[in-house]
Amino acid sequence: MAAVPEYFGSLVFDDRVMKANLSAEVYQSLRKTIDEGAKLNIGVANAVAAAMKDWAAAHGATHFTHWFQPLTGVTAEKHDSFISPSPDGGVIMEFSGKELIQGEPDASSFPSGGLRATFEARGYTAWDPTSYAFIKDKTLCVPTAFCGYNGEALDKKTPLLRSMEALNKQALRVLRLFGNTEAKRVVPAVGPEQEYFLVDAGMWAKRRDLRFTGRTLFGARPPKGQEMDDHYFGTIKPRVAAYMADLNDELWKLGILAKTQHNEVAPAQHELAPIYTTVNIATDHNQLTMEIMQKVAARHGLVCLLHEKPFVGVNGSGKHNNWSISTDTGINLLSPGDTPYENAQFLLFLCAVIKAVDDYQDLLRISVATAGNDHRLGANEAPPAVVSVFLGDELAAILGCIEHDAPYTSIDTGKVRLGVDVLPKFRRDTTDRNRTSPFAFTGNKFEFRMVGSSDSIACANIMLNTAVAESLRVYADRLEGAEDFQAALQAMIRKTIQDHKRIIFNGNGYDDAWTAEAVEQRGLSNYRTTPDCVPHLLDKKNVALLTSHKVFTKAELLSRYEVTLENYCKTIIIEADTMADMARTEILPAVQAFVLDTAKAAAAKKELVPGCPCEYETELVKKLSALTDQISRKAGELEEAVLALSSAGDIGAEAEMIRDVVLPRMSGLRLPCDQAETLTARKYWPFPTYGDLLFGVR
Ligand code: ADP
Ligand code: MG
Repeated sequence: MAAVPEYFGSLVFDDRVMKANLSAEVYQSLRKTIDEGAKLNIGVANAVAAAMKDWAAAHGATHFTHWFQPLTGVTAEKHDSFISPSPDGGVIMEFSGKELIQGEPDASSFPSGGLRATFEARGYTAWDPTSYAFIKDKTLCVPTAFCGYNGEALDKKTPLLRSMEALNKQALRVLRLFGNTEAKRVVPAVGPEQEYFLVDAGMWAKRRDLRFTGRTLFGARPPKGQEMDDHYFGTIKPRVAAYMADLNDELWKLGILAKTQHNEVAPAQHELAPIYTTVNIATDHNQLTMEIMQKVAARHGLVCLLHEKPFVGVNGSGKHNNWSISTDTGINLLSPGDTPYENAQFLLFLCAVIKAVDDYQDLLRISVATAGNDHRLGANEAPPAVVSVFLGDELAAILGCIEHDAPYTSIDTGKVRLGVDVLPKFRRDTTDRNRTSPFAFTGNKFEFRMVGSSDSIACANIMLNTAVAESLRVYADRLEGAEDFQAALQAMIRKTIQDHKRIIFNGNGYDDAWTAEAVEQRGLSNYRTTPDCVPHLLDKKNVALLTSHKVFTKAELLSRYEVTLENYCKTIIIEADTMADMARTEILPAVQAFVLDTAKAAAAKKELVPGCPCEYETELVKKLSALTDQISRKAGELEEAVLALSSAGDIGAEAEMIRDVVLPRMSGLRLPCDQAETLTARKYWPFPTYGDLLFGVR
């Protein structure tokens, strides 16, 4: 077995490969494109394409594809082989600069929320040279953006790149005001911690709900769940350990910096965290990670569940989006410094994030809105649907003193009068309350914890980058015109704290009292469901933000509104249909068979022992008969609710009907089914139970 450094990135056309396979001139030119966004000429593109093809072919690749991220949230690829006929009847392997730069997938089957109807029928993909090409399944994958012919974004990468540009532009303006002339770019970096469940593939195959919807739609609670707290950071079982080792190998070959792995709170739940990197690369890598996780699981007789809530009654899965912004010269702008200059700058960027999260809390909630994630957010699970910022007691106290121009007493410095340039050293707050916060400052980065485990991290970062860009724009506008920079800076930081302190909350985010306080006293929004929040994407202030920073056009926003709600509706309709079907064709016949056998047993007993009361059998048959009647009736009601959706009119109304009628009826059907499970002999039950699934992998 080779050592990790020898095969790390072996399937990636990375800087090392570029340097080794491109002429110095071509390499320089490509680097300029990657680092500074310089335009690429076709000569360079041809040379890069040829080198890519030779390298890929040497690694066994026969095809290439433009790899992109349509609005489905998963990745898409259409493979073309490198072959081209030669006059002698054979073939040669070809890949041109034009093919590298631009592709034309048949875009008509990707969701576009009406965008393509408004514009052109076809879309094109455009190479993103800042994310390295890689080989997967004998195919050279070129990361690309996916656009319509008028440049309208049909994917998640295009707006993400635009939001990075917006942030870069405004952050550089602010840095120049602090006298920084060296930084050429400011780039957001993300480390996404990915949670997932592993279940046995044989058991998975027996459950139609898992196969069709990724989550269990039925299932009585097992006698043991997560109450013993014995799984979190517990010993990793051999089968899972073998899976993790194999997964790491695959990810490392793809240049993905898989770093940390451990068991999570729920049984069968685990986490993988990579080392953080530039956000568009982190996004590509996270999409790849999710794909490889599922592929590797299959090799181990396992299935990797990425759904946000595969099981009721135990924790769901999320993705912690650790976000920071740094200069190309390596300065983390969210890292408190040692010098007065660094302190002032840190405070301003910290304030920019606080203001951004308060002003655009709705956009952050919207960016993670899916049917699956609604089971976590606002449903008594980490984190709540109310967005708030955790700073820790000490940093919050420091901001409090700045706000009131009061002296601050610290152990190190004693009593000091704080200013933008005088900041005491503070400790990173690692209290438990931090873990309940949707948006926590963790020393030199913010951790946004509302992202769903199956979500692309693109949307969350688009909103975060753009909202912070807007804060910085406001600051730069004001400071560039200021007569006394220091005084203006001090005043602005104080004002931000005064105006936005309502978003800062250092207490327990799970507490019901917090939700009440947040909504009633602080006026924060609490959108529990996707249909509650998504319409606010089109609120005037949100459209103004996203269009003024050129991240989305109005038409693109309308398309996101449509696609998000369409996704929500489709997901739940599939769940509802699967439920009704399983209830009728699996659960009812199984319970019926048990009831019949029980009744037969009672009859046989009475024959053998005349006058035998057979209380047990009689009670059981009574109870189960009542339940089967209920199940049948509830399945019918659910089917009716789904049928009624055709009269909804528009997608907004349909989503509301689903929230208000379909979802409650799904719960209504589940209840008697789960009750029947607890009364029915195990051998009759038609599919593996919660206990089997959660404790079935050793
Ligand atoms: P935990 O949140 O469990 O305490 P860490 O804070 O060490 O763990 O890291 C969690 C994730 O945050 C990792 O993916 C890590 O690479 C990432 N991370 C660490 N520092 C930064 C940073 N400055 N910017 C963005 N992500 C970071
Ligand atoms: Mg973390």
